[in-house]
Order: sequence, then structure tokens, then C-alpha cells
Amino acid sequence: MTSEELKALDHRYTMQTYGRFDVALDHGEGATLYDLEGNAYTDFASGIGVASLGYGHPKWIAAVEGQARKLAHASNLFYTQPYARLAEQLCLRTGMSAAFFANGGGEANEGIIKLARKYSYDKYGLGRSNIVTLKNSFHGRTITTLNATGQDVFHRFFFPFTEGFRYAEANDLQSVKDTAGEDTCAVFVELVQGEGGVLPLERAFVQSLAQWCHENDILLLVDEVQTGVGRTGSLFCFQQYGILPDAISFAKGIAGGLPMAGILANETCAHVLTPGTHATTFGGNPIAAAAALAVLEEMDEAFLKSVNEKGQYLRERIAAFGSPLVEQVRGLGLMIGIVLKQDVDRAALVKEIYDGRVLVLTAGPRTIRLLPPLVISQTEMDAGLEVLRRVLCKEEEA
Ligand SMILES: *Cc1c(COP(=O)(O)O)cnc(C)c1O
Repeated sequence: MTSEELKALDHRYTMQTYGRFDVALDHGEGATLYDLEGNAYTDFASGIGVASLGYGHPKWIAAVEGQARKLAHASNLFYTQPYARLAEQLCLRTGMSAAFFANGGGEANEGIIKLARKYSYDKYGLGRSNIVTLKNSFHGRTITTLNATGQDVFHRFFFPFTEGFRYAEANDLQSVKDTAGEDTCAVFVELVQGEGGVLPLERAFVQSLAQWCHENDILLLVDEVQTGVGRTGSLFCFQQYGILPDAISFAKGIAGGLPMAGILANETCAHVLTPGTHATTFGGNPIAAAAALAVLEEMDEAFLKSVNEKGQYLRERIAAFGSPLVEQVRGLGLMIGIVLKQDVDRAALVKEIYDGRVLVLTAGPRTIRLLPPLVISQTEMDAGLEVLRRVLCKEEEA
């Protein structure tokens, strides 16, 4: 099949819900992807921050293959080793107390919202179900998580949404206090707002928020769907902020490309969701859990250090282009935002980057977002950087 034939087939038979990039991918190795014609692309996207170990990682393949041969599915009505072992690893490496596994970020966030509301209901009864989220946040595409998302463009078409969310300004504790009230059970934040434009929250804000939440028995929930699993240079981003949230959600990178997500809760919240109150058929599937165990095993201290070093290298190199189009380069670890100046035609630049065979993402109104596989090599980084430099500095191709 050619790329053109594949695109035609897709257009004929699939709901056109995605504004896809004009690339038909076939296979990959490391942080390099190939289209159906065999053209190579440097991957600065990893899906959307999912392929944390890149493509064709031998240990990941061995874990998936081995578990597929052994037991592909069991349902959550039975005990399985990958599920329990993965929960153990996640708790031991974070200081959290209990895990629940789901299949995607939106679903994990539904679970964390249920957890927060039940925590409060068990303790205080009805009337304390409101959750404060931040403006410019993103929490998912379900009817509930759309409304948890603090951006008006997501509050359209699908009425009625799940009620019980109000939005505060990021990095403004007073705004959180003013938005919260007697009816509030939780504050739910991304530590680096991803879809919103790769905006890291300020450390002082996060620490004072954690303290204020604790003093008021308001749960602090952190959406680590994008920031988690090594992406920002620590296993989870909260570990860099010097806080222990009451619960976090994670997804994207956890299983290195297989659909998986989950929630981790601290001691306060570990026993809130009791038998019959929350469940999912596929969540914690043995193959996905085995893949996640392989991912976590790779992510030792040296690996996380390399994520920080690569992130710093990319940010410094891009800033050093001195491009007249770029306002700021920001982010944490390998979650990087290139913020363009007002009125720069981002779509045109992204097209040129793709023409140069580098895959990138966008975020917010004027950010180019890079989420490369965490295993990206020096050669691959430099190949991608060269194209970015050419495009951002408006040089004609040699
Ligand atoms: C991607 C994302 C989600 C949604 O995850 P899905 O797996 O697409 O449902 C939620 N929160 C954040 C911060 C995300 O980046």
C-alpha cells in the first residue's frame, strides 16, 4: 500500500475526528520512524508522549511477547502477577500507597475525580463535591473531564456536562482560595500544563497550594498523564516539586506504547475506592502491565539523569538558534515548548518541519511542542535540531 492509498482508505472509512499530519507511518526503530515509502523521520513526538522507550526496544518487546504467550487477559476478577508487581514498583518508587489501573488518561481522571468525591462524601456527606481546576488545563475528552478542563473551547456541543468544576488562575493561590469554597473537595492540577502550551507551574505556588489543601482537608490531585513516567526527568513530576499529592493520574508513557493508565493514591486516599465502587474490564491488562514493568525497569536514576541532560541540550540548542520567530523555549526534561512570537504562522512552520521529515506537536495557541522518545540518541537529536534550525531561522534548504 502507498501512503496515498492509505490516506484515501482512512478518509473513506474512518470518522474524521483528527486533523492528522500528512504522514502515513509504517515502522520505527529507536526515535526514527519510517513511512510506507521508507522515508525516515526524526521523532520529536513519540505519538503524544507515549513511546517512552522509542520503537523496537528489545526488553519491551521481550516483556510483551513473553506475557502474550503466557496470559494475555484474565479480567480483574482474578489475581495476576504483572498487575500486583507493577503496583508495587509504582508505590515503592513514589511513596504512594495504592494503585488502580485503567486504559487511558481521560478514564484515569474520571477515576481520580470519583476518588476525590467519595473521600469527601464518606467523611462529610453530600455537598462537598466541587473540584477546582486551573485555567488553561487539559484533563481529557470524556463528558466529565471536558468540563474539568479549564478552557472554554472544550465546553461546547456535548451538553449537559458533569457539573462540579470551577477554574482558578495558575500560579495564583489567592485565585484558588477565592474559587474554592465550603463545597470544594479537591484541587486538580497539571504540574506542567501540556496541551495548554507546556507551562510549568511555579514551585512556590505548588508548595503553598499543597500546604493550603492539607490544612483544609481538600485533596491535592495531580494529573501526571503527560508529565509522568520519566517525561520531565523524574519518575513523576511531583517528585521535583517537593510535594506528595493525595492522588495522581498517569497514562501516556507508562506502558511504552500499549494502552494503559492508572491512579496512585497516598495513605489518606488508598482505601477510598472499595469493592464495587470502581472497575474496568481491560484496566491493568497483563500484557500492558508487563510492558509497563519493562518501562519502569529501564527508568533507573541514570536513565532519568539522561532525560534531564537531553532536555537541557535541546532547550539550550534551540534557544541558541537566536531565531527571530521564537519568544521562549521552556519545559522540563523532554517535555519542551518552543513558544513562537505573536502572529507567527505556526501552521506554516510546522508544515516546513514535517517537510524536513521531523515529527513535532503543537500546544496552546502558539507553541511547538517536543515530546521525543526518552531514549532518543545524540545523532537523532542533532538530525532533528538541524531541521528546526533551518526552519526557525528561515534558511533555504541547501
Ligand atoms: C493526554 C492527556 C489526557 C487525556 O488522556 P487520554 O489517554 O487521551 O484519554 C489527560 N490529561 C492530560 C494532562 C493529558 O496530557
